[in-house]
Order: sequence, then C-alpha cells, then structure tokens
Amino acid sequence: MELDAQVGVVGIGTMGSMALWQLASQGASVIGFEQFRVGHELGAGVGEARQFRSNYLEHDVREIMLQAEAGYRELEQVSGLPLLTMTGGLTIGPADSPLISELVKRILDAGDDPVFLNHKEMAERFPQHELDEDDIVVWNENSGFVRPENTIAAAILTARAAGAEIVEGCEITDIEEHPDHVLLRSADRVWRVRRVVLTAGPWIWRVLPKTVVPGGDLGRLLLTWFPSKDHELFSPDHFPTFTRYAFGTTLYGLPSLWSGTVRVGFAGPRSRFSDPDELNRIIVPQNEIDTIQGLVARLIPDLFPIVVRTGTHLDAYTPDGQPLIGPLDSSGNIIAAAGFSGRGFKMAPVIGKILAELAVEGASRTDLFRWRPRRFEES
Ligand SMILES: Cc1cc2nc3c(=O)[nH]c(=O)nc-3n(C[C@H](O)[C@H](O)[C@H](O)COP(=O)(O)OP(=O)(O)OC[C@H]3O[C@@H](n4cnc5c(N)ncnc54)[C@H](O)[C@@H]3O)c2cc1C
Repeated sequence: MELDAQVGVVGIGTMGSMALWQLASQGASVIGFEQFRVGHELGAGVGEARQFRSNYLEHDVREIMLQAEAGYRELEQVSGLPLLTMTGGLTIGPADSPLISELVKRILDAGDDPVFLNHKEMAERFPQHELDEDDIVVWNENSGFVRPENTIAAAILTARAAGAEIVEGCEITDIEEHPDHVLLRSADRVWRVRRVVLTAGPWIWRVLPKTVVPGGDLGRLLLTWFPSKDHELFSPDHFPTFTRYAFGTTLYGLPSLWSGTVRVGFAGPRSRFSDPDELNRIIVPQNEIDTIQGLVARLIPDLFPIVVRTGTHLDAYTPDGQPLIGPLDSSGNIIAAAGFSGRGFKMAPVIGKILAELAVEGASRTDLFRWRPRRFEES
C-alpha cells in the first residue's frame, strides 16, 4: 500500500513546526498541514516574546526545561535566526505572598539556595521597579525570553530544507485510523500516512473527540504594551523578565523589543471559550485595561501608564493544567501534543523531539505517563 508520507503533522504552529523540523532532520518523510498560511497571527505562538525560565515554580516541567535551552540553541544555529535571549529573571512580592513563599519553598526543597536582591541592590541594578517596603526579590539566572514568530519560522525553514512538505490553506477535517495507516481528509483530498501527530493548538477540540478531555476548553490571554520614558532602561540588557505579586494579582513583564514599548500584563481570572471563532480579538474589556494601567502607574513609574497596543490570543487548556502528550490509543498511530494551558512555548523544542521519537519508532515513554491524553476518561 502506497503512503503519501510516513508521518502527517496536523497544525503547523508552535509544536507542529518543531515536530516537522525534528522528523525531517531525522530523515523521515513528513507532510505538514496548516489550515491557514504558516506564520499566521491567529495561533498561540504569536506576540513578540514568551517568558523562558527553568523556574522552580514550574517544577513539574523542570526535567524538560533542562533540555530546552540546548534545543533553542541548536535551532538558532541551523536556522541563523535569533530565538532565545537570557536576561535573568526577577520574582517580586511580599514574603508571605503565595508567589514568593511557594518559590522559596521549591528552591529549598530542591536543595538549592535562593538568591535574594535587597532593596539597595534593586535600586542600583533594576530601578525600573518601585518596591513596597515588605517586598522580597528573588533572582533567577536561568530566565529570559524566546521570540515565538522567529522560532516557528526557524523550524519551518529548517524542516523544508530537510525535505518536509507543507500544505498550506488545508484544514484537516477528518482523521480515520486503520491498523497500519491513517487517512487524513480535507475538503477536497485524502492523504494516507503511517502515523499522525496532532498539534492543532486552540483548534484541538475540533479534531479530538470531546469525550477524551471532558472540560477541556480555551483560555484568552491578553497582551498589553506600554510606551517607556527611556528606551534603553527597558532594553533586554537592562530590564530582565519579571513576575510580581502585588495588590492581590500577578503581573509579568518582558523587555522592550520593538518601537520603545514594553509588554506588561496581569493574570486575571481566565476567560473561557469552547471554540476559537467565539473570540473577539479586537475589543478588549475596559476594566482589564484600567486594571493593568493602574498597576503599571504604581509599580513601574518609568512607563507611561497607557496601553498603546494589545494582542488577544488563545491557548488550549486542560482541566488539570497539564498538557496532553502521547498516543491516543495502544496502536500508537495518532499522537497528540496539545492543551499546553498557557505555558508550552518554553518547552517547544523538547516536545518536538519527543513527538518525532513517538511518531517514527512508535515508542512509548513511561516518563510521559502523567501526560497521557486519555487520563481524564479514567477518573
Ligand atoms: C498570549 C500568550 C502568552 C503566552 N505566554 C507564554 C510564556 O510566556 N511562556 C510559555 O512557555 N508559554 C506561553 N504561552 C503558551 C504557549 O505559547 C502555547 O502553549 C503554545 O504556543 C501552544 O502551541 P500549539 O502548537 O499547541 O498551538 P499553535 O501554535 O496555535 O499551533 C496550532 C496550529 O494548528 C493549526 N491547525 C489547527 N487545526 C488544524 C486543522 N484541523 N488542520 C490544519 N491545521 C490546523 C492552527 O492554524 C495553528 O497554526 C502563551 C500563550 C499565549 C496565547
């Protein structure tokens, strides 16, 4: 029986582009399917920068994060595109705040020593942050940011150069499994492949049967940019990524990468959606703008407290906040990587490697047991 390719990858965004790169560079014949054009603006991997940290707070992905920097450096080298910038990272908040107490506990549990910066050191090194008297600052050397658009472009260019084919403007609407092959259908064609990797991001709930993850949904993530009073002060050399607990909420921010504006956002209650078409990407609720502007005015006085640019995006969320990674059933012919719940980008090169291993060798990995896609049906 003739196959169109050994592996078909459905969805060429963050994880799909990484899988494609890994598969093609290992010599597998692979076809990627992207419903829009590659590099489109509607996916989860857009917005200029993503926080990258081997943070003790995200202890559940620490094993993966140990390999992530090497993965990004390898992709930078083969593609020639700048992807990862290490700036160090600040975590700021009162000692008894959930953010700081949890972080310090995790660092100590790991047998490490937290690195604190006192208020004098902060005033000398990072005067951009207006601290409250009871604020504590923890420094994390292994933090920085990744450029999402460059990353996806780098993986696609490298995959294509290694022989991967990508069909753009092609939505896969049906996936039919047979013992030794899988049929992928679009509106006007059928492809036959040995195995399929499902990396449909916020569209995953359209292609994965609803019963697999009851309660799986989408979360809206709002990005907001502020103009700075001094561009240099907020450049990557002077303004590390930060997470801060203040006034009962968590803020995060990244250095200025474009046009003198600085991205600062806050993690409010998550707006939930069941399908990407429900999202209004243009109108941002005024109360959210008011909240973030108020926080910036009080905490980062060298920014003008007015939002000059926004981005409204989605990621797929699972009920336990952990991704779905692995075969959908014992045949191992359909492998999912989805539901990254607002925190998958930093891990992307490692996920690509895992997907290639599962798709080429049909391997099973015990370390992925906790992320098995069918875990919700068992409980
Ligand atoms: C605003 C925002 C900020 C974030 N910040 C961080 C951060 O700081 N650090 C971090 O680590 N993570 C962060 N994340 C999370 C991270 O970006 C996502 O977890 C990750 O990008 C998800 O990748 P994905 O491949 O699942 O989805 P996508 O990148 O969206 O890829 C899915 C692709 O599949 C295509 N597709 C879907 N269905 C089909 C179909 N049927 N046929 C063909 N093509 C299809 C889509 O068009 C899309 O291109 C953030 C996410 C957002 C939205």
